[in-house]
Formats: sequence, structure tokens, C-alpha cells
Amino acid sequence: MLKAVPDKPRGPACPECGTNHVVPIAYGYPSSETFEAAQRGELMLGGCMVGVGNPTHHCKACEAQFRPENRPG
Ligand SMILES: [Zn+2]
Repeated sequence: MLKAVPDKPRGPACPECGTNHVVPIAYGYPSSETFEAAQRGELMLGGCMVGVGNPTHHCKACEAQFRPENRPG
């Protein structure tokens, strides 16, 4: 049984490495709450550049950044 990580799988799996060590990327100016969550590794700060097509998720295992809803069509 692989249960080393107690996190509940709340995010999509990484398309690159297939793990679910994936955290959402928070764009815009971080609130203190957001900043603390980032310090805990619960999310990734994407900076203030908010643009169409930006990745929304970050893989902590392989550092890939992707958009899980980005599907052809
Ligand atoms: Zn990955």
C-alpha cells in the first residue's frame, strides 16, 4: 500500500509524470492566506501576470505546469 502522502487527491494528475503532487497556481497579488498556503506547499504563486492560456496547475514532482482543462477541440 502506497500511503506515504496523506493528502487527499484534490487536483488533477500531472500529465508529465502522472503523480498527483499537483497544486493550483494562484495568480495576482497574494493575500497573506495565499502566501502562507504557498509556504506550506499547498499552492504555487504564479505572480501578478494574469494572462489567457496561463497554466493553472504546478507539479511539485517534476515542476511541469499545465492546464488540466486544456483539451483539443
Ligand atoms: Zn509531474
